[in-house]
Amino acid sequence: MMIPGPVEISPAVRRAFAAAPPSHRGPELIESFGRALERMLAVWQAADDSRPFAFSGSGTVAMEMAVANLAEPGDRMVVVDTGFFSRRMAEILRRAGAEVEVVGRSPGDVPAIDEVAETVAAGASPKALWLTHVDTSTGVRLDPAPFARLAREHGVLSVFDGVCSAGGEQLDMAGWDADVYLTGSQKALGLPPGLGLMVVGPRAWAAREARRAAPPPLYLDWHSWQPVMEAYRAGRPSYFATPATNLVLALEVGLGEILDQGLAERPRRHVETARALRAAWAALGLSTIPLRDEVTAHVLSALHLPDGVELRELLSAVRAHGVTVASGLHPDIPRPYFRIGHMGWVTGQPELLLRTVEAVARGLADVGQPVSAERAASAFEERLASSAAR
Ligand code: PMP
Repeated sequence: MMIPGPVEISPAVRRAFAAAPPSHRGPELIESFGRALERMLAVWQAADDSRPFAFSGSGTVAMEMAVANLAEPGDRMVVVDTGFFSRRMAEILRRAGAEVEVVGRSPGDVPAIDEVAETVAAGASPKALWLTHVDTSTGVRLDPAPFARLAREHGVLSVFDGVCSAGGEQLDMAGWDADVYLTGSQKALGLPPGLGLMVVGPRAWAAREARRAAPPPLYLDWHSWQPVMEAYRAGRPSYFATPATNLVLALEVGLGEILDQGLAERPRRHVETARALRAAWAALGLSTIPLRDEVTAHVLSALHLPDGVELRELLSAVRAHGVTVASGLHPDIPRPYFRIGHMGWVTGQPELLLRTVEAVARGLADVGQPVSAERAASAFEERLASSAAR
């Protein structure tokens, strides 16, 4: 299954997930939850005074939580639009009563930092700058560091949607001095779907403390969860709402795998995988939706359909060769396109990646494209071998 989330998961994560459900107040779960939260801070490379949160819900619930705590009616908010999910964030902010300004380009690119700086500086000071690290709809990746710096320089919070990037792309919350970095469990972290996760830095926490508007909905309020997370980290039972216990067990193991692999090695593996796959896509005559290398994600490929190919036919042809890939997802991209996820555990499984290349190539051949699966496979293998040799 090579869609951009949910993803294939490791055998160890699967075993943890498949355990008999533990009591949410019992020592096994409490210890596991505590370790998972410490591991989150490590994987996020977050400062010690940051607060980790893990709760049931998809990535969208994590987005809702960030907005519910930070946005008050009338707050000016700036959203950098790099695709479908940035627009979702803008919509959540609007529903919270914020005055939302969206700055972005046509799908496939990231707006220049100067353009974003101009928007931030024009008019009343925004409360936060909202960014999508990797927008899964377009495969566009932005570099968080300069955007977080820009936010700091203007005394504005920076909030990152890392649903498609945490665990795959470089993540350095303290190094960037970012304020909130949120994600879901089902993508590059390599877990089943069902958990929302976020780390909240001290400035964002202070913004919640200074809130004058009505408190956020109970389930989304950081104040509801903070004592629970603190208790688990201290090894004490606590209850606000029942956690997804088996997902917590899986989270501890999945984050442990990332830390064992190494915080530099993990994104490096994703970069090398992406480069090798891009060599294969080029050999198949496929071009990417992202317009430039610098804005192309390493966790998925969003690819234009060759002329004359019908999307549904291609997807089922590829599936007939044993691999599931996904359709495109951006209303402003007029021609259908498709997406292939390559994140998490699978980046350490070259034979599965090769099977993906071959399935896409054979699928293209089945729908009448003059492509060579052998050429694509050797482009992939040569590129992977050359990065392994370096
Ligand atoms: N943001 C991004 C960048 C995403 O890729 C997704 C899911 N594809 C979401 C938010 C929403 O997450 P979920 O589907 O888990 O609610």
